Amino acid sequence: MKKNAAKQRMQQLQTMLELYNVQYYELDNPTVSDYEYDMRLRELETLEEQFPEYTAQNSPTKHVGGTASQTFEKVQHTVQMMSLQDVFSFDEMDLFLERCDAVLNKPAFVVEPKIDGLSVSLEYRNGVFVRGSTRGDGMVGEDVTENLRTILNIPQKLQYAPVFLEVRGEVYMPRKSFYTLVEQQEANGEMPFKNPRNAAAGSLRQKNAAITAARNLDIWIFNVQQVEGVTLESHLESMAFLEKIGFSKVIPHSKAVYTPDEIHREIEVIGQARGDYTYDTDGVVVKIDRFSNREEMGTTAKVPKWAAAFKFPPEEKETTLQEIILSIGRTGVITPVAVFDPLQLAGTEVTRATLHNQDFITERDICLGDRIVVRKAGEIIPEVLRSVSHSVNAQPYRLPEACPVCGTATVRDSKEAALRCPNPNCPAQLKKRIIHFVSKDAMNIDGLGPQNLALLQEKGLVHSVVDLYYLTQTDLLQLERFADKSASNLIRAIEASKKNSLDRLIYALGIRGIGIQTAKLLCEQFPSMEAIQNATQTEIAAIDGFGNALAESVVNAMAQPYMQQLIAQLRDVGCCMTYAVTTAQGNCLAGQTVVLTGTLPTLKRKDAEAMILRCSGKVSSSVSKKTSFVVAGESAGSKLEKAKTLGIPVITEAEFLNKIHGKEEIENEN
Ligand code: NAD
Repeated sequence: MKKNAAKQRMQQLQTMLELYNVQYYELDNPTVSDYEYDMRLRELETLEEQFPEYTAQNSPTKHVGGTASQTFEKVQHTVQMMSLQDVFSFDEMDLFLERCDAVLNKPAFVVEPKIDGLSVSLEYRNGVFVRGSTRGDGMVGEDVTENLRTILNIPQKLQYAPVFLEVRGEVYMPRKSFYTLVEQQEANGEMPFKNPRNAAAGSLRQKNAAITAARNLDIWIFNVQQVEGVTLESHLESMAFLEKIGFSKVIPHSKAVYTPDEIHREIEVIGQARGDYTYDTDGVVVKIDRFSNREEMGTTAKVPKWAAAFKFPPEEKETTLQEIILSIGRTGVITPVAVFDPLQLAGTEVTRATLHNQDFITERDICLGDRIVVRKAGEIIPEVLRSVSHSVNAQPYRLPEACPVCGTATVRDSKEAALRCPNPNCPAQLKKRIIHFVSKDAMNIDGLGPQNLALLQEKGLVHSVVDLYYLTQTDLLQLERFADKSASNLIRAIEASKKNSLDRLIYALGIRGIGIQTAKLLCEQFPSMEAIQNATQTEIAAIDGFGNALAESVVNAMAQPYMQQLIAQLRDVGCCMTYAVTTAQGNCLAGQTVVLTGTLPTLKRKDAEAMILRCSGKVSSSVSKKTSFVVAGESAGSKLEKAKTLGIPVITEAEFLNKIHGKEEIENEN
């Protein structure tokens, strides 16, 4: 390449990569794949080697991509949180191994999956978790301690207490939680997170820890950054040490390996197994085991020279787009879905991928019958990348002007890309709304799956969620899927749902943008349905965790005659319209270890655990002399017995809530 052209390309690449860094690290919303990013970074690195005179001092090849945002307190890392050098083939891996060999003469390596999440530092003083932070730019990160406390696999207290310990781990969102979150976001007409990595980053960097708590994040710990009071000499020794002192999620790792062949084999083993992991991996990390060897290898300003990340390339394949089907969500959002000839990608058969909205289709010039490229990197929901060629007579695809189910004219909100069916009585929406209404996190009516519901709709027994409350045993016994027991169980579940606290009902109503946690936040501020109906947009927008758009969505929903009628009908059938306070924060459980056992009447286990953590308590799965108290619900078994034998106090859920709120407050007006 000529000098001038190289200079120009280098500037172009720098600008592009800096923009990608902002989109990825600060906005949690990348616009290109990791692979494309890595390839552009590689191109810049190569040009910088050839033309060092044009290398910018602050080139993206020389520093870690993120920065600490203003939203959180800043944390100065005493041990820099570095990135990793990437390799993309066994040949490149061998070059890395040769470089190590040249300095150290046959050192031992350890091979681990590279978790695709975000890096955090956890600090423990005398065994107590005192601070947690993000990587930021590697030197200065963000204090996200309270958010990290909601991750159940981060121990709040260690069994053995070194004077000081800092470990590094990768916070991630399990795939299952990611899919659930994306479904909710799509149903709410929100732009969903692109992959679990961005979802994890977006969920951890929340101002409101309750939102993080609801996102079901997890962690793998992969390094000891610093420790006082204990001498550790190698990575393997330090991983065993972490397990011993109470870290339940220490990264799975190989034994010590030495030769390129052994290392290739370990990489292949992880490559084959990664499709079955419940979380995403974007590669394999190969690292030198002994700390003294690591020191000898040293670091650059950005990466250690003693480790390398072998990155898996994404899989892309061509297929033919056969059909575009339209899925109608409970809020009326119409999502086009591509149906194509089956492909094997990243170990699974893929036949469908969302096309999101009209803009997505138009930008990619997608027409029916096109040859299209679909990609599924292990870490991404299959996506249509581009159209390669059109078939003869291909016509641009347009989303319909009328709802394909009820025929109502569709509308597109000027502020968003989604198209909607505005008819609240559209049967497609109704079905999804009822499914949402009865779901576990909403009214929790067990026994009303999609098939039973379809039957009830077919027989004309259910036209709205309110009709559920008028169902009788005789109605259900007319349907072939019900016998005496299943019918009475369902009637009982419907009856019990009337007592649910208001936050569940608010969530169940399916207001755009309102998830389980935002429903709770709303109810904490406005603890009755009436108060919510009377609240102004400004008042709602002032709630921590809400913004103007969400407040507007609540106010608009409450102003709809359809919604007002529904709420009045639900009140008439006896649904609870007030909030039982179930959240807490503070230090009231500091130093206390709590065991939960049996089924609690209103709190889900996960929520109760998150509350204990938010109150600075510790949750334990077994009763011992160290247990401060046990919260027992229905069908409590051996743990309750053991608590009684050891004389540990046993309390009910109501007493527990009273303890953390300091007041009796579980009264529901019906
Ligand atoms: P990286 O993700 O390539 O690797 C470093 C990270 O790996 C460490 O920070 C660590 O947290 C993590 N890690 C996971 N498991 C580990 C283990 N077992 N041992 C050690 N570390 C482990 O580098 P990075 O600096 O975090 O991010 C750069 C990468 O992010 C790029 O290569 C690209 O893939 C992606 N990125 C993408 C975009 C985009 O627009 N798509 C933009 C910026 C960055």
